[in-house]
Amino acid sequence: MAGLRKTVLACGAALLALAAGCACAGCREAGPTARDRAIGAEALAHAEALVAAHPTRVGGEGSAEAAAWIAARLPREGTRIDRFGTPFGPMANVWHCRAARPVAVLVSHFDTKAGIPGFVGANDGASTTGLLLALAGEGALPVAYLFVDGEECREAYSAQDGLQGSWRAARAGAIGRDTPVIVLDMLGDAAFNPGLAANGSPRLNALLRRAGEAVGVPLGDAGDVVDDHVPFVAAGYRAADIIDFDYGPGNAWWHTAQDTPDKLSADALARAAALVRRAVGLLEEERE
Ligand SMILES: [Zn+2]
Repeated sequence: MAGLRKTVLACGAALLALAAGCACAGCREAGPTARDRAIGAEALAHAEALVAAHPTRVGGEGSAEAAAWIAARLPREGTRIDRFGTPFGPMANVWHCRAARPVAVLVSHFDTKAGIPGFVGANDGASTTGLLLALAGEGALPVAYLFVDGEECREAYSAQDGLQGSWRAARAGAIGRDTPVIVLDMLGDAAFNPGLAANGSPRLNALLRRAGEAVGVPLGDAGDVVDDHVPFVAAGYRAADIIDFDYGPGNAWWHTAQDTPDKLSADALARAAALVRRAVGLLEEERE
């Protein structure tokens, strides 16, 4: 019986392998590479470490300590902290750039929303911060990295409330208006279902869709989203927002104490890395 059982299992495995092979041949997807998987694993480790070190990162209330934590994990060369005052207290963005001519700015917010007991923002804040830290640490992409504070609003989004770090960066003109801005948000969910904000720049959205199709990460339509791309679009940049706004049953984990590191997945972050790397490659081709 033991031998027969083994044979049956082996056949099952062969059938599964055949099925997987057929699926890949049919759609010609180039999924995450070993390099993407290494970035995904490192991104997850950074996200878990950020939540452990700074579980609460409310803009103006201790977010500066989180900014210092992020800066300390970036290569020293090309890293600077931009501190600024807001009605809610002092905030800080972290910049990192070693590229002579960056083809894009990759943006993630790192702050958490106030007033939600137990909220640590593992997916909403830490996941894409971890992804940017992993990509910046690898140092292979010709991009600038921007970690923004104060994305979450206190009461309701307005010119004075929410998106504080991205308004600051967009108005400061620290990057040329011809440099595209790609915002990444909530991309660590194990049930990975990323989409594009409809109120992003159409040409950049089209390029990101092409990148997603090339690496087997099709991008859905997230509808109009209030996120960190908005100030950049308003300031005349080409800007887009990649967001998986489908987190838990009926998005039930969003902005709750259930947004914890155990919901995150290295595989999702690897797929996000593959998407970003391909998009940057397309932007390099576009510039040439
Ligand atoms: Zn949020």
